Amino acid sequence: MSRFFSDKFASLTPYTPGEQPKERQYVKLNTNESPFAPSVSVLEAVQKECGKLQLYSDPECVALRRELAAVYGVTPQQVIVTNGSDEILNFAFMAFADAKHPLAFADITYGFYPVFAQLNGIPYEEIPLKEDFSMDPSDYIGIGKTVVIANPNAPTGMAMPLTDIERILQSNPDNVVIVDEAYVDFGGESAVSLVDRYENLLVTQTFSKSRSMAGARLGFGIGNEKLIADLNTIRYSTNPYNVNRMTEAAGVAALKDNAYYMENCRTIMANRAYTTEALLAMNFEVLPSVTNFIFAKSSELDGEYLYRTLKDMGILVRHFTKPRIRDYIRITIGTKDQMDVLLDAFREIRKENSK
Ligand code: PMP
Repeated sequence: MSRFFSDKFASLTPYTPGEQPKERQYVKLNTNESPFAPSVSVLEAVQKECGKLQLYSDPECVALRRELAAVYGVTPQQVIVTNGSDEILNFAFMAFADAKHPLAFADITYGFYPVFAQLNGIPYEEIPLKEDFSMDPSDYIGIGKTVVIANPNAPTGMAMPLTDIERILQSNPDNVVIVDEAYVDFGGESAVSLVDRYENLLVTQTFSKSRSMAGARLGFGIGNEKLIADLNTIRYSTNPYNVNRMTEAAGVAALKDNAYYMENCRTIMANRAYTTEALLAMNFEVLPSVTNFIFAKSSELDGEYLYRTLKDMGILVRHFTKPRIRDYIRITIGTKDQMDVLLDAFREIRKENSK
């Protein structure tokens, strides 16, 4: 730390992204990316936009917001687009949480929530998940705080029913409830259908997972017009050109090819079922996932050992050191071939260890 670093960040622990190694070609199952390439029209749209890089992007992202509104059945005024959904989460924390409206989120959830809370000096409460890693909605009923729920949750992959989300919204009318739906397209139930009924609901989603655009950085939020206007106040006070030209064009093209992406999601869901079944047969415990990853624990081998051994074998998965989950590994669901490489590796590791 330099002697110039502001005191207000002295104790900030930044987020640790998953590894993006360059030294070796891994079977990469560690950051929940899509194994499928973007559609051809996305590539063409990006190419076309490259020739206009001398011009700023549209700060209103009119074309993209219009397309999102049509796909999600809302108005463009109910939509904001951001540089990944990480950015909208940060904006939402800035806009809707403070000492009077502290944050509440699960103890096992997306690691960026406590970081954004600390960055913005917002007090937060971490509410333990139940023993089975599900969220207890009654912990959030009438809590009187700005609630953040990853639904489905990460890294567990488990979802909370929409009826419970609705009860949380109803019982906290003076606080915003942020529902982070980064993984909703893999079998979850979206709360977008509730935005016209609850003025305190903000839903966030991303193009990083189901739409194969993690590297383009595109997220979005849907809520009532006034919430979106507040988020735009924050956006115009930080970076009005937060979504670049190529990314906006890619987003529009991806939405026009929605059928391709939703078909890919169905393939991932089938590969998830296949992998889960095979892992259960190898004495793994696998949490019930509605995402493009699974959270699994071997009854024979510890999480850290599995992570390291798989890495040596050229397969990357994610391991977390938090005591409650350190026996688990998080495995991104890839193509069937990738899952077969992983399952064969597990068979080999088990064979070695049974000698
Ligand atoms: N929410 C959750 C729960 C996530 O796991 C992620 C991915 N790391 C994000 C939000 C942010 O993803 P992105 O910024 O790529 O949209």
